[in-house]
Formats: sequence, structure tokens, C-alpha cells
Amino acid sequence: MAEILVLGAGLNGLVTAMLLAHDGHSVTILERDDAPPRDDAENAWLEWHRPGVNQFRQLHFMLPRWRALMQQELPAVLEQVIAFGGSRLNVFAELPPDLTGGWRAGDERFETVTARRPVLEAAAATVGQRSHGVSIRRGVKVTGLLTGPRVIAAAPHVTGVVIDGGAVLRADLVVDAAGRRSPVGAMIESAGGRRPDEELEDSGFVYYARHFRSADGSRPTALGPLLQHFDSVSVLTLPGDNDTWGVGFTTSARDKQLRGLRDASAWQAALKLYPTAAHWGEADPITDVQVIAGIEDRYHRYVVDGEPVVTGLVAIGDAWACTNPSLGRGASIGMLHACALRDLLRDVSPDQPEKLVRRFDEITESTVTPLYRMTLAFDRHRLNEIAADVAGETYQTSDASWAMTKALYAAAQQDPDVLRAYASVASMLCTPPEALAALGMVSKVLTLGANAPQYPTPGPTRAELLSTIAGPR
Ligand SMILES: Cc1cc2nc3c(=O)[nH]c(=O)nc-3n(C[C@H](O)[C@H](O)[C@H](O)COP(=O)(O)OP(=O)(O)OC[C@H]3O[C@@H](n4cnc5c(N)ncnc54)[C@H](O)[C@@H]3O)c2cc1C
Repeated sequence: MAEILVLGAGLNGLVTAMLLAHDGHSVTILERDDAPPRDDAENAWLEWHRPGVNQFRQLHFMLPRWRALMQQELPAVLEQVIAFGGSRLNVFAELPPDLTGGWRAGDERFETVTARRPVLEAAAATVGQRSHGVSIRRGVKVTGLLTGPRVIAAAPHVTGVVIDGGAVLRADLVVDAAGRRSPVGAMIESAGGRRPDEELEDSGFVYYARHFRSADGSRPTALGPLLQHFDSVSVLTLPGDNDTWGVGFTTSARDKQLRGLRDASAWQAALKLYPTAAHWGEADPITDVQVIAGIEDRYHRYVVDGEPVVTGLVAIGDAWACTNPSLGRGASIGMLHACALRDLLRDVSPDQPEKLVRRFDEITESTVTPLYRMTLAFDRHRLNEIAADVAGETYQTSDASWAMTKALYAAAQQDPDVLRAYASVASMLCTPPEALAALGMVSKVLTLGANAPQYPTPGPTRAELLSTIAGPR
């Protein structure tokens, strides 16, 4: 069994370490932030200082696919989330029966467990630090890569890392889970290698979000999907832990007129304009409006022109690729990626470094890259659609898949079978082509959705939204 170093104790680094340790590997996580996890939800939410994760207190929701993988692989993490006050809920059962047609066999697949992000991570860290074979060292910043004799002439072979202060730590394999701003690409270059291929651009989205807590222990009733699209904005309504939830507007970061949503009273007034979301704002806010922009879409490939750029090192989770998060897929994709690495190491050990890197590249491309590409395609269309809204135009594209995506969303609100297909895609339980493959589904989606209004859920026009944000209130 191998000695493995994981860089970063974020959600995906922790999960990866636990999966590998369960297979008998000896895993050490090196985390730059020194604060240990808190042992209850409120401490985690209020006190846990995690500057290494920019989105630490932003809206998060764990998809049913994440829950299913966790249930199968690391059920103790789910139990710990619940012990910290996390919510076990079924995103489908939360919807009104006139939309769902009532409970059906199979709807249990839409179950998930959710909590605010610091609580989720505290739960994963709590289980991680008591897991046999996992050691978590906090306050340790990795500053460089240790290399040994090359396995491939053009690529450095990583045999460990250098940490702040110059000490070296050796390993059979280094796993980069250092998140969206991972410094490892530059470290490979400093070690005499070629940088991994990188696709990088600003996603173009901004989030204006607040968290709330119920005064009486009840959670708002869901009147539509967790992510609803309207003229110029999308609205997220996300249950959390301990009677909390988050609500967010997401829109184009270029839309200067909507920047008034930074103001809490404008934000509250705006939310009241959305009949299916307004009631989520009728509680005690526990945050001001939290704004995050400049979120990058970033993707790396470690085999370039057919040749690995490095051996002895692989990247998972956000360090490998990340996107605008409105579809809430980061942790689910990271978990799939971590499982893929664990499975590969059962076949190919780190003492076959070239084979390991090549196979992990192939597996990454076939399992998680398609999810990254689909997310990016959705975001590009949505951003263009918002740009058209701002210009007072209707978004036109020759991409038939966008028309189908829109039709699926609209038809889902009219037909329980289509709603299940839509929810399966949104839960990352299947891809759109898989959801549409059911007999008669395409014709149903087109009949109900093709000529639906651009935004089927009732909401304000852009002019109404802007005048509400501008006041007076
Ligand atoms: C606004 C926003 C909302 C999101 N909402 C959702 C959601 O609803 N659902 C969802 O599934 N995903 C969501 N995501 C994505 C999710 O947050 C990420 O996918 C997830 O945090 C990635 O985990 P990770 O472990 O790969 O990286 P991170 O969580 O970023 O962890 C990386 C860790 O590496 C450490 N590190 C960095 N450099 C070094 C170094 N040199 N040495 C040692 N340690 C280092 C950092 O301190 C950090 O702790 C959201 C993202 C954003 C931006």
C-alpha cells in the first residue's frame, strides 16, 4: 500500500483521503489554513477561519448524486452532517403534489443531506481526522515539489513536497486537491516541466445571497425547483442545517443595474417580486447580502500532446477543474473523481507512475470532463440569454440542445414524468440525453415545452425588477 500526500483539506481533499485510507493507503493531508474544524454547527458557521476557501460561507447545496455516493462510500460523513443538525430531505417530495403527481416508487433517488458549507466541511473533517490511515496536518503550506529521477524524459517525477520552512515530505503519490487556485501548475513548471494545459476564463456570473434562520423551526415550502430562471436573474432557494437556508440571486456580473442587490433592503424588496421564492425571505436573516463574483471556469489536462507533463502527481476536484457553481455540482463531481482515483489505484499502483498518470487522464476525460463541459455549455447559454434580456431581446441560438434544455425546464412544470426527468438531470443522476431517452419523453417535452413562454415561472419583468431595486421602499 502507498504513502500518499493530499494537498488541501477542503471537501474533496478530505473525501479523497478517506477513500484512499479505507483501501489501506497511508494518507497525510497538508492544509495551509491552521484552524481545526469546529465540533458544532454554530461554531463552524461563525468561528471557523478558512481563508483558503473563498466560498466558505457562500450558498452550498449537496445534490442527490453526492448523497448517494456518500451513502455508498462514506456513510459516516452523512451521519456526522445529521449529528451537526444537517437536513435529510427529498428534493422531489418537497415540491407541491400538483407538480409531482404525488410520491412514486423510485422517487427516493431524489433524497439528499444538506447543510451550510462550513457545517458540511466540519462533518467531513471530523470523520476524516478519526479515520484510520488519515492524518491531517493543518497550518502546513506546500511551497514546492520534490522530484526524483525522471520516468519520462520530458516530465518531472514527483516524489514528495516541500513545505513552508523548507522541510520535505516524501510520498509514493501526491494528490493535488488545493482547490480552484491551486499553485501546483506553477510548481510543475518550477520543477522543470511543462505546465498542464489550462482553459481559463471568468464565468461571468455574480451571486447576491443571504442566509436565514426560521423562528419556529419550519422550513419554507418549495413551490418550484431549487434553481429557478427568470428575466435577467436566476433564484436559488437552498435548505441548510439547524433551521437555516440560503437564498441567492445569480446573474451576469456585467449587469451594473442589478448591483443594487448588494443593498439588503433592495435585495429583500426584489425577492418579494418572485411568487415562488418570496416566502423564503420571510424570516430572520443571519447574514447581510453576501456577494461573490470573479468566479473562474478552469480546466486542466495533465497529458498534453499525448505526453504526461508530470508523473507521481494527480489532481482532483477543483484543482483539476471548476465552474460557475449555480448547478451545485462541485462536490458531486469531486466525489466521482475521487472514487475514480481510488478505483484506479486498485489496478495500477504508484510504482507504475507513467501508466497511472495516463490512465487517470483517460478516466478523468471519460467520467468527469463531460460533466464539466455540459456545465460550461449551460452557463454560456444562460449568460447569453441574460445578456439578451438586458438588451431587451430574445436570445437566439442555433444550438438545438439549448432549445431542448429550455423545453425540458418548461415542460417539467407541467408534467410529473418530465419533472422527474428534469430533476434527475438537476440531481446529476443522469445526463440530459439519458433523461430524454425514455419512450415518448422527447415528444412530450417538445409538445409541452417548445412553445412555452421563455420564463414559465411567474416573475417580474426586468423593468419592474430595476424599479424595485432603485426604490423608494
Ligand atoms: C459561490 C460558490 C458556491 C458553490 N456552491 C456549491 C454547491 O452548492 N454545491 C457544490 O457541490 N459545490 C458548490 N461549489 C463548489 C465547491 O465549493 C467546490 O467544488 C469545493 O469546495 C471544492 O473542494 P476542493 O476540496 O476541491 O477544494 P477547496 O474546498 O477549495 O479546498 C482547497 C484547500 O486547499 C488548501 N490549499 C491551497 N493551497 C495550498 C497549499 N499550497 N498548501 C496546502 N494547502 C493548500 C486551501 O486552504 C483549501 O483548504 C460552490 C463554489 C462557489 C465558488
